[in-house]
Amino acid sequence: MPDKERLGCDMRPIQLILLGAPGAGKGTQASVISEKYHIPTISTGALIREAIARQTPLGMSAKKYIDAGALVPDQVVIDMIQDRLSQPDCADGFILDGFPRTVPQAQALEEMGVSITDVISIEVPDEEIQKRMEGRRICSVCGATFHVEHNPSPAGDRCPCGGMLTVRSDDDPAVVASRLATYHSMTEPLKEYYAKKGLLKIVQGQKQIADTTAHTLAALASRGGR
Ligand code: AMP
Repeated sequence: MPDKERLGCDMRPIQLILLGAPGAGKGTQASVISEKYHIPTISTGALIREAIARQTPLGMSAKKYIDAGALVPDQVVIDMIQDRLSQPDCADGFILDGFPRTVPQAQALEEMGVSITDVISIEVPDEEIQKRMEGRRICSVCGATFHVEHNPSPAGDRCPCGGMLTVRSDDDPAVVASRLATYHSMTEPLKEYYAKKGLLKIVQGQKQIADTTAHTLAALASRGGR
């Protein structure tokens, strides 16, 4: 059941975009929101990594972009998202983590008839991102993310699901630098795009994940009074 506190006077299902640089904590916040509001998180990065692991044609063609810290071509991710959003579990709302990343991707969402209700940008300085990425670990089975210092897995070098924790190849410092540059040039303009539509809320990423979560949930709950 949707959360009454969140819905307030606004009964539309949550159709949320999480913006923010790679490593800002979108995935971590998405999993909290997903659990609280019982809506799926759709991460294009996770979908692409899955395609690479399965060695599908899409995965094979996307790998060179990911490895270089560049964006996969718009049409590839747009088709992927269109297919995913048409699945029944998205009917009562969803969280987009890592999509859109360009203005044409945002426009494509509108052309699909998707009406976004909330956009939250999690802001973290680049130097902090660089530090965070060095300690980031990802579960090779379920894709859950951890940090060796700030968010260690309770199961040590494994995920609670049993999967081994691994370092993402694109978390290499040189690749991170290029992902950050791509974020600033291609994705950051989306803040203005959604601010003009009155949808943007900014949350400052905090040192403690729980504090960022509190700010993110407050930003989402304030939607009812808009
Ligand atoms: P993420 O897990 O969101 O950091 O995404 C990892 C990588 O997947 C990115 O660096 C891009 O190469 C690719 N990717 C994910 N989402 C998108 C998107 N919306 N548009 C283009 N490329 C994407």
